[in-house]
Amino acid sequence: MRLTSLGLHNFRNIKDSTFIIGENLTVFIGDNAKGKTNCIEAVFFLVHGTGFRETKEEELVLFGDKASAYVEGVFTDASGKISCKVGLVRYELGYKKSFFINKTKKQLRQYKQEPRGVVLFAPEHIEMLTGSPNKRRSYFDKLLSQFDYQYKKNLDAYERAMRRRNKILENFEDARKLQDEISYWNEVCTQSAAYATMVRQNYCDFLNKNQSIDSRKFRIEYLKNEFNQNQIEKYEDLELKTRRTMFGPQKDDFQIFLTQKKDKQEENVQKFGSRSEQRLALMWLKLGEIRYFQEVSKFDPILLLDDVFSEFDSTNKELILDLVKQYQTIASTTDLEIVNLAKKHKIPSEVIRL
Ligand code: ATP
Ligand code: MG
Repeated sequence: MRLTSLGLHNFRNIKDSTFIIGENLTVFIGDNAKGKTNCIEAVFFLVHGTGFRETKEEELVLFGDKASAYVEGVFTDASGKISCKVGLVRYELGYKKSFFINKTKKQLRQYKQEPRGVVLFAPEHIEMLTGSPNKRRSYFDKLLSQFDYQYKKNLDAYERAMRRRNKILENFEDARKLQDEISYWNEVCTQSAAYATMVRQNYCDFLNKNQSIDSRKFRIEYLKNEFNQNQIEKYEDLELKTRRTMFGPQKDDFQIFLTQKKDKQEENVQKFGSRSEQRLALMWLKLGEIRYFQEVSKFDPILLLDDVFSEFDSTNKELILDLVKQYQTIASTTDLEIVNLAKKHKIPSEVIRL
């Protein structure tokens, strides 16, 4: 499905605008702080019902006394058109969202069943490689939750159960009674963690099926920290002292290796990779995300490029242009480089000046 028009009302700094989106490449161009990323985020919001930068959803509504925002769009494919709309109303104590398909109100789950999807390239994704394990887990969690509702449900159940477990560990007075109090939560944690671990492992296996990119090869290793009976026993004494859960998938990590370097052993890209190797590793992960999207969803995603093009080296620029040829792409940028290169590659583009 292609997006053909995008309308924003009180969404972040954009009061009221409607944009025609091109079939191939559409580029939002403008100076800093004009609202380019906000437009990219609006497409993400239209598809997922959440933005990608907010800590609280209310932040998506225009500052000031405005109380409601919406993003709407029309998607088209061979079978016809559908119009989609996500509204957000801010109250004093929170917010309420609503979802519409062809003007009929839907539950979020129904809304998300429509065949629309995006793969986002954003500058902050590099932190996924160079930052803390938390950044990596959160990248994989967001991604996998898009495709598997059970994954999100199990993660939430695990987190809730672990919090209860931590409370019990924090407050227990008699170590002999602790086992009785904690065993129910151990059971919940074991079950929900097993599902999360399985999905994370499957995704890494999927990525490792296609290791090559631009004559290089990458490999991802899942450093899993399971929640099971063995671990419960192994950490029992330590947990009595620390009074916290000391194991489980909240401590998982992922390592990416560059496996083909002349005369060199494989290299951990996160620790030792050069900047360009890290960027290529990120591109490898993103290409994997597109492949996974197609395998699971059986349709093409829309690519969202938030100000990433000018940061890329020439290898990554070529890789991106190859993608732009294949997928509808919406990009934000401060200069015309991507538009000029697209012209060279005979890719039609629409430019929207903000
Ligand atoms: P850059 O080139 O620096 O990336 P940009 O064009 O991508 O800039 P955006 O990130 O889209 O800029 O932000 C544009 C403006 O929107 C910023 O000045 C920001 O403060 C403002 N903004 C963000 N959220 C809201 C909101 N809820 N209400 C009003 N303005 C907002
Ligand atoms: Mg921006």
